[in-house]
Order: sequence, then structure tokens, then C-alpha cells
Amino acid sequence: MIPMVDLKRQYQDLRGEIDAAIAEVLDSTRFILGPNVHALESELAEYLGVTHAITCASGTDALHLALRAADLGPGDEVITTPFTFIATAEAIRYVGAQPVFVDIDPRTFNIDPEAVARAITPRTRAIIPVHLFGQPADMPALTRLAEDHLLLLIEDCAQSFGASIDGVQTGSATAFGCFSFFPSKNLGGYGDGGLVTTNCTPAAERLLKLRNHGSRIRYHHDEIGYNSRLDEIQAAILRVKLKRIDAFNQARRRVAARYAEALADVDVEIPFEDGIGLHVYHQYTMLTDRREAVMTALQEADIGHAIYYPIPLHRQAAFDNRDTPPPSLPVTDAVASRCLSLPVFPELEDAQIDFIAERIRGALG
Ligand SMILES: *Cc1c(COP(=O)(O)O)cnc(C)c1O
Repeated sequence: MIPMVDLKRQYQDLRGEIDAAIAEVLDSTRFILGPNVHALESELAEYLGVTHAITCASGTDALHLALRAADLGPGDEVITTPFTFIATAEAIRYVGAQPVFVDIDPRTFNIDPEAVARAITPRTRAIIPVHLFGQPADMPALTRLAEDHLLLLIEDCAQSFGASIDGVQTGSATAFGCFSFFPSKNLGGYGDGGLVTTNCTPAAERLLKLRNHGSRIRYHHDEIGYNSRLDEIQAAILRVKLKRIDAFNQARRRVAARYAEALADVDVEIPFEDGIGLHVYHQYTMLTDRREAVMTALQEADIGHAIYYPIPLHRQAAFDNRDTPPPSLPVTDAVASRCLSLPVFPELEDAQIDFIAERIRGALG
């Protein structure tokens, strides 16, 4: 059996260090906003190259808090991709703003900057690109658009921890970067967790308040905020893993390179790297016209596989506004009907990759 992601393997490798880190938190009985959260935040700021790293309870909350800190709300339009996890657009709705879905690039599956340009209206306030599956979106083009039209850029980096463009980390050079520490993400805890990055000190002050009931000084509440804090146990675990994130991401790239070799003569479209930035392969997602056949073969061989994402957001009931039909986004629809994600995690072995490729070849042969 080969799972999509094998968290057990990684825990076994790191067990001594992680168990000791957890035990230390338990002994200290400091569980909320203590020394590990503060240390992790400075280590994250240092790694990502940002002035402020503010942890919170989840990646979804990171997006929500960033949109609150940006003062987005009713009447505002936010352009984003429909080919992502729902949280990206849910957060836009949380603040009462309107998500505007535009089409994606057929090869990278990232938001298409030309489609973004066509969707800009006088009500547009922000663009939220997602660095999907770990590959940086076209930030140079999106940054030009944002500058020309005075729009905020908020990056959904939930899948891209450690990805970079010309050595600049995703989430470090725009208004806000929003990260998730969900267990299966490239940098994952053993529970929920999230992070907002910014280089704007007033915005950082606002985020520190918003995550803690609108308060910086105990029992002084300047505004209505949330209970959205990372806990000390998660922070302690993440500190152990952060030290190894570059090795983990390099191992993911090794897995992708091995898949590329093993699938070279198979009739599938393997992931395309557009060279804009460093892809950290949160997912290894290929395209095939015979998805059912491939899935059946993988199922029979007990090999994990998943469709990310079967129903794009412009077709989700949650975003149905009842008055207008969903926008026509043909590239997204085509990709959603042909995409299939294969197992990828740092510890995946060459022999396992070859075995997976062999099954796919068999299904299509
Ligand atoms: C995982 C994910 C999120 C949400 O993160 P959580 O920590 O699960 O709330 C947001 N956007 C994308 C693209 C994700 O993959």
C-alpha cells in the first residue's frame, strides 16, 4: 500500500526530537502564546525574509485575518482562482466581499494574469493568487497589474511553503502571505495551524489584535476579533520541522523528477514547470483523458490517488448567487475533468514511484 502522504514515516524519523519538544511544553504548562509561538514566529520571519510573521489557528483563518486587516468588505470585489481549495474564496465571503473567479493557465493550473486583467472593475480591491500544488503563480505579471490598478495582492501560500521566485519566498513580497500548517502541507503540524506574513508594521499590529479578541493588552479590546491562535504544542512541533523544510522540499522535487523519468513514455501530461519560480510539489498532478482507467488500476494496486479538484469553485453551490449562471471558465473545467494527483511526500522511494508509473502504464497500454 502506498498512501498519498505518509505522515507516519516522517514522525518515525523525527520521533525523538518531536516527543521531547512536546514533553517540554507539557512540563512548562504554557499552552497559549508562549515561548514556542514567539520563537517560531521569529524563525519563520527569518526563513521567509519578512518583517512580521503572525501565527494563527489555520490557513483559512490566515486568509480571513489578512482580509480583515486589509479592511475588505461589502461592495469590494476580489479576483481569485476557481481551481483551489474552498478556503481561498470562503475567506472572501467571510468579510462580505465578492469573489470573482477567473480562468487558469492550462499547463500550470495557476491563475491566468490576462484573465485577471479582463476582470478588473472599479470595485476590484484585491487579487488572491494561489501557488497551486506548490508552484509559484506568475507574480511578476500579477504585481504589475496590482501596481497599475492600485490593487492589494494577498497570496494563498497554503501549498507553497518554501517555494520562491528568484530566491524571494512566496508570501514575502506582497501585502500579505497566508500559510497553512495543516498536517499534510509541506510544513505541517500535528493539528491545525496557520500564518500571516507582512512587511507592514501597522498591518502586523492589527493582525496581532485580530487573532486574540481584538486585544494587545489583556482585557482591553480595541475591536471585535477572533480566538485564532496557534498553540504551543503545534509551535514546538513546527520548530522541529522548519529546520528540515529545505531538505523536505528538495526530496519532493526528487520525487517529481523520478516520476518524470518513469512516466516519460506514458500517454499522460506530467506537471509542467513554467520556470517562473521554484516548484515545491505539494501535489504531483498530471492530466489524462482516461482518468477512470488510471484510477481503477491504482485502486487495485492499493496506491493512493486523488482528484484535486473535482468541482471548481465557480460550480460550487456555496457560491451560487442564484441570479446568474456560473461564469464560463473552460480551461478550469477541462483541467478539473482530467486532473489526477499521485502520491508525493519526501520519503517516497524510487522503487515505489517506478511501481506507480508501471501501474499507470499498464492501465493505458
Ligand atoms: C489547505 C488550504 C487552505 C486552508 O488551510 P487550513 O489550514 O486547512 O485552513 C487554504 N488554501 C489552500 C489552497 C489550501 O490548500
